[in-house]
Formats: sequence, structure tokens, C-alpha cells
Amino acid sequence: MKRIFAFALAAACLLFLLPVTACGGGQNERDAYRICAEYEEGVLSAEMQFSHTNGTGEPLSFLEFNLFGNAYREDAAFRPVSDAFSAAAYYAGESYGGMEILSVSPCAAWEVCGQDENVLRVQLARPLRPGERTDVSVSWTLELARVEHRTGIAERAVNLGNFYPVLCVLEGGEFYECEYYADGDPFYSACADYFLSFRADADYTLAASGRILSAEEEEGTKKTYTLELYGARDLALVLSKEFSVAQGEACGAQVMYYYYDDPAPARSLALAEESLTYFSEMFGSYPYPVFSAVQTGFAVGGMEYPALVMIGDHLTGVDRAYTLVHEAAHQWWYAAVGSNQLEHAWMDEGLAEYSAALFFDAHDGYGLTEEGLCAAAERAYRAFYSVQEQIFGRADTAMDKKLGEYLSEYQYVVLAYNKGMLLFRTLRQTFGDKKFFAALRRYYADLAGGIASPQDLVLSFKRAGADASGILRSFADGSAVL
Ligand SMILES: [Zn+2]
Repeated sequence: MKRIFAFALAAACLLFLLPVTACGGGQNERDAYRICAEYEEGVLSAEMQFSHTNGTGEPLSFLEFNLFGNAYREDAAFRPVSDAFSAAAYYAGESYGGMEILSVSPCAAWEVCGQDENVLRVQLARPLRPGERTDVSVSWTLELARVEHRTGIAERAVNLGNFYPVLCVLEGGEFYECEYYADGDPFYSACADYFLSFRADADYTLAASGRILSAEEEEGTKKTYTLELYGARDLALVLSKEFSVAQGEACGAQVMYYYYDDPAPARSLALAEESLTYFSEMFGSYPYPVFSAVQTGFAVGGMEYPALVMIGDHLTGVDRAYTLVHEAAHQWWYAAVGSNQLEHAWMDEGLAEYSAALFFDAHDGYGLTEEGLCAAAERAYRAFYSVQEQIFGRADTAMDKKLGEYLSEYQYVVLAYNKGMLLFRTLRQTFGDKKFFAALRRYYADLAGGIASPQDLVLSFKRAGADASGILRSFADGSAVL
């Protein structure tokens, strides 16, 4: 059934996939994902035409893509949900899914490989010369587990995060393969342009990254949407038959709030608008034409994607407000300014936490202040330090760990979020508001659309007249005394 369905999909999508693919060449041309997908009864069937320019100085003989959806299969070595959240996430008991690649063309060969069947490796038909552009078509199916997580069927919605093959970042001549660690966000990708055609039952409402250009209904049974998003490092969708929609505007962007259980949706929409306005003023303009805040089943709390954030439907009151603001801050730190979240999770989590603290300090009505939030982070950090010392004789507080090196979700949260937040408070206290905010504005202006390293952060502070290298190093390697 899957293959027959995939063939029908390919025929229907031919017009969408073929005509607009850019083939201009040029080293700075962004990659493009043209995706045609259909969702039906727990299975996404899709085809994409991926356009890639070889931006390196060497010929490229193959491409690699991360297959994040494969982490949900039964025999996965890396489980996508940590033990702490499994019971809440798998609301219907154990459930599995997975991604099946059906075809790749043109190519010399392809295989699903990596440490955990998490990588699609495509041997190109001929080596791609520096500056040359090529198109590769991939078709696949994604079966969804019943899980309240990034990719899965939640109780009241369907989450389609990380639903397509994502090109691995080429780093030092090698493609960086992402294993799906349960602690943290194991995603690392470059910015690209997206063009999506998406078909589903007409009674679903679609929340999406990007601007929905059209929605055509066929005889009341199916609806086909087209949308686009430029210069984003990911694309996510959420479907629900229960969504109500509130719509507003901030900083020239359309602000959407999709919800099914919120006693004060106008307040949540206003909070989303206020977040975009505040962060735009503090750090630089919001980079997308749309921002969608989406209430859905997401057991871990909230999840950021470019132009879309998932807010767990179990959250209420201040917890929901805090999560919304934290995820909105990720539009600056993660979505626009990217980083390698598998190796420097503190870069975007610490900055999103501190940005949220700044927001609440400037907005009354939530009972939250920068001082109070930082004090809570400090208490959490000290408690962790004391427990570590008692158990191990020493506390390992190095922040610059790979996701696989964290001993627990607890350690990850304390070091990436709490200590990360305290790092940015320390930088602000040390250098003063003028240099601190100038450095963050510099960081955003220089690196939005790109990928930042810890050294880039040091450089941004240097350009603002502050030598942050010692503080950053001591926090990262664990030698800082807090
Ligand atoms: Zn976060």
C-alpha cells in the first residue's frame, strides 16, 4: 500500500516539484528543499527535490542526510525520549515508527547507514565540482509513533518536526552525522529555502513554519496547502482537528496562535507578539514573515523550530507563558544564529534562558524577574554541585560537553540551561549593559543565517570592546567558581 500510495503522490506532485527548481550555480546560493507530502492515517508519504551547491573548494562525490524520523523505530539504539519523560510521552504505551527511503535519483548508489540507521548516504552520479549545483530527488514514507514528542501522533494533534531528510552540515570535509540523543536537541543544520506542498484530511487545521500561500479543498475531503520559508535551518508542521486560531501581528510578521485548551488565548497571542517585539528591539529584527505558536502534545515542555514553536498542552499559567517566551527567544538563538547543539547546547539554551529572564524583567504581571530567575538557576546549580561532590568527590561542571556525554537529563538541564543562563548574567554584570547588549546585537547581525561557534561569541564581545574569552573558557571547561 505504501508504494502504490507513493506512486500516486509522485504523479500528483510532478508539477509542483519540477518547474521552479533553481539551477543557477554560484557558491553562495542557498540549498533548497522542494517537498511534496501527504499525511494519512499515521503515515507521511513524501517526495523532495533537493538542490545543493558545492560551497567547498573540493569536488563532492556524495551527500549525507540526517534521518531523524528513524529514531522512533523499535530497534533504535538511541531512544528519542529520556526515561524521565517516557511515561508521559508514550501515553498509549509503547509505540514505534520509522522512516523508509523508497528511492533516490539520480545517483550512483544510496544506502541508509550511520551509527543508528540515522543517515542517508547518496553517492552522486558524478562528482560535483566547486560552485556547481545539483538536484537529487528522494522519496520516503514516515510512519509515526503514538508519542507526544517532536515527531509523532499526540492525543489531540500530530507533530511533524524533523519529517524529511536533512542535509548534514559539512564540517572539515566531513558530513556531521547527528545521533538522536534523548537529552537535548540533537539537531545541527544549515539554512536553506523551503517550498512545500502538503495534503491531508480537510478537517485538519495546519500550523506551519513559513507562510501558507494557498489552501485548496477537494470536495470537502482533502486539503492541499502550499507554503514557503526562506533562509531557515528547519521546517516543522503540526496538524489538529481541534485547533482554534488567533491571529495578530508584530514587527511586520504575522503572528499565529493555534490552541485547543487555553482559557485566555488573547493573552497568549499578545505574549507571543510582545516577545517578538521585545527581542527585535533588543537583538535585531525578527527574521521570518510568520511566527506560529502552537499548543500540542509535547511531553518535554516546548520545542523550537524556525518560525514555529510547539508548546506542551500540559503547561498552564506561568509555565506556559515562560515556555512560550523561551521558545520565542530561540528564533534569535538557534533559528537565526545557529550553533552545533550536539556539542555546545549552552550557546542557544543559555542565551534563550537569559533572554526570557530579560523579557520578564521588562514585563509585569507574571511575578518573574531577571534577579529571581537567575537566583533560582543559581540554587539549582549549587544543589547539583553539592550532590555531585557527595557522590563523585568532585563536581563535573564543564558546559562544553557533547550530548552523549551528559550523565542524565538533570545534568544537561543544570549545565546547558541554568549555568548557561548564569554565564550570560556574569557577562552582563562584568561588562555592563552597553557593551553586553552591543555584543549580542553584533552577534546577531554578523551570524544570523549562519552557524556560530563559541569563538564567534568571543569575537562579538571583542567587537563591542569586551574581552569575554576568560569568562567563556572558565564556564565552558568547568573551572569557573560560582
Ligand atoms: Zn530551549
